[in-house]
Amino acid sequence: MNLILLGPPGAGKGTQAEQIAAKHGIVQLSTGEMLRAAVKAGTEVGLKAKAIMESGGLVSDDIVVGIISERIDEADCANGFILDGFPRTLPQAAALEKLLDSKGKTLDAVIELKVDDEALIERITGRFSCSKCGAGYHDKYKKPAKDGVCDKCGSTEFTRRADDNEETVRNRLMAYYRETAPLIGYYFAKDRHQSVDGMAPIDEVTKQIEAILS
Ligand code: ADP
Ligand code: ADP
Ligand code: ZN
Repeated sequence: MNLILLGPPGAGKGTQAEQIAAKHGIVQLSTGEMLRAAVKAGTEVGLKAKAIMESGGLVSDDIVVGIISERIDEADCANGFILDGFPRTLPQAAALEKLLDSKGKTLDAVIELKVDDEALIERITGRFSCSKCGAGYHDKYKKPAKDGVCDKCGSTEFTRRADDNEETVRNRLMAYYRETAPLIGYYFAKDRHQSVDGMAPIDEVTKQIEAILS
């Protein structure tokens, strides 16, 4: 099963991808995560992406398409994958179609998480994750069961993303509306688009996605 989760920054794509991936034994492919790893490792891609990501802009289509194309070929993707944060532009969507075709793979669903704009800033500025296993949390909406201890791995170290500040978030929202929102129309026109109420509580959203997938 191969699917795309669409939605603005903070909509809950990563949170839902984590749930669905675990449940279905498929992999979560977050271009944001891959780019952050490249920045941390200081690779050529990381050097190109760093300043763009810090400002809240979009990294070039060539870079992210290249990353995804290579990643999809790895053995753990054979069962399926969830694209979280890709495609983000119309050229990326076209490139994805082409590369799936060439690899003999298909898309099973494109699911949009619909969230009110006013909720996004609060979601993003309250977001943090486990430094060890990457599990995602929120100061208000998804606290660890035991304060300061990761539910998944027991680690007591957490991180916040440098770009999760209000100023950068506004730029990221701008990039979303300019470049990514047209994908909703694109997939609608292809009769691929489905949506869930991303304002519902986390578990409720997961149930809505499960209903689409079953
Ligand atoms: P995205 O990957 O789309 O940028 P995330 O999955 O990281 O978004 O979610 C952003 C923040 O909002 C996280 O801190 C997450 O815990 C929280 N969150 C996700 N889904 C919901 C929801 N349905 N209700 C409330 N908070 C949520
Ligand atoms: P969020 O879901 O909160 O928007 P991501 O982790 O998906 O954050 O992305 C973080 C940053 O990485 C983006 O602001 C952008 O600079 C870059 N990025 C991630 N995916 C893409 C993509 N598909 N195309 C271009 N830039 C990307
Ligand atoms: Zn953890």
